[in-house]
Amino acid sequence: MTTFVDVPTLSRLVERVGVAEFIAGIAATMREDFRRWESFDKCARVASHSDIGVIELMPVADAERYAFKYVNGHPGNPGKGVSTVMAFGALAETETGFPVLLSELTLTTAFRTAAATAIASEALARPDSKVLGMIGCGAQSEFQAIALHTILGIEEVRIYDIDPAAMQKLQRHLLRFPQLRVVPAATPQAAVAGADVVVTCTADKTWATILTPDMIEPGMHINGIGGDCPGKTELHADVLRAGKIFVEYEPQTRVEGDIQQLDPEHPVHGLWEVIAGRAAGRDNDEQVTIFDSVGFALEDFSALRYVHRLATELGEGDQIRLIPELDDPKDLFSRVLDGEGRGHRRKAA
Ligand code: NAD
Repeated sequence: MTTFVDVPTLSRLVERVGVAEFIAGIAATMREDFRRWESFDKCARVASHSDIGVIELMPVADAERYAFKYVNGHPGNPGKGVSTVMAFGALAETETGFPVLLSELTLTTAFRTAAATAIASEALARPDSKVLGMIGCGAQSEFQAIALHTILGIEEVRIYDIDPAAMQKLQRHLLRFPQLRVVPAATPQAAVAGADVVVTCTADKTWATILTPDMIEPGMHINGIGGDCPGKTELHADVLRAGKIFVEYEPQTRVEGDIQQLDPEHPVHGLWEVIAGRAAGRDNDEQVTIFDSVGFALEDFSALRYVHRLATELGEGDQIRLIPELDDPKDLFSRVLDGEGRGHRRKAA
């Protein structure tokens, strides 16, 4: 049988363990998987672009498990009453190909993107970081703030969005975390002034420059999460040139990340090497570090692995017959004849 985790089940899992613990669980699984980066069969995601958005497939595997995610990115969707990002995916046994988990991944993507920001910031930001500047207060924003509060120890978040309603929504939701001070800013400059860590999580399928060189201060760590597909950027090219840049899977980020604006030879560093203790993160307290996040299949693999383990431990999720179970594996046709679909047969008029 395959475990099926739909949106209500995922919400129940989060409710049972707590939001902060759920993010911490994904982050711990992701750290484990980044440390064994070389044992994965990796590739850049396969993207189908239209003028207004993108739909992508993201596979990755190791000797035991295979995972994929289906995900879209349509910045104009909120105006149509639909989320910008929507996703689902599966985890399977590599040995047989049997799918052990089919799961919602819209909520989970927000958790895993925040977990990735947190483990990158843990590896790259100054250890005494307390103030976060956040530009973009949409669907991902609460997750980002909570992850950096609980994992990095951020105490104050200064927020800015061109949409005042999105800022109010974020403020309202973060009331549940009274230890985290939320300060609305009147401009993007005010949101990042004096910040130790910056997150840009805006959505616009244009060559945007949300962060410009005049906004950057020595020692800042920047997580650019919304520049994640060709022609969609957030960081001015000179911001990138001023910092030490870290990426997930370089062949994918060269095409999709903010570094698409740079010379293809411009040096970038693998985040996994810092997490695995193979390379240094920042070289000194004055250096600007940049995580050019685009979202990589391994992060979803980690999230699916964590969701599967949690659902199994807590007895959550439906057991569904996604794959026919056969007495004789060569006799598939018997499943057509033996009345498996009887319960769903339409009544004759
Ligand atoms: P969303 O549409 O819910 O929110 C985006 C917010 O950005 C909106 O509130 C909008 O008003 C604001 N915005 C747009 N332009 C702005 C500007 N110039 N200045 C300030 N605010 C601005 O989108 P979301 O689901 O929160 O996703 C945010 C971004 O993160 C998207 O671009 C999405 O593609 C990306 N994303 C990246 C990853 C990753 O792994 N890197 C994962 C998920 C989503």
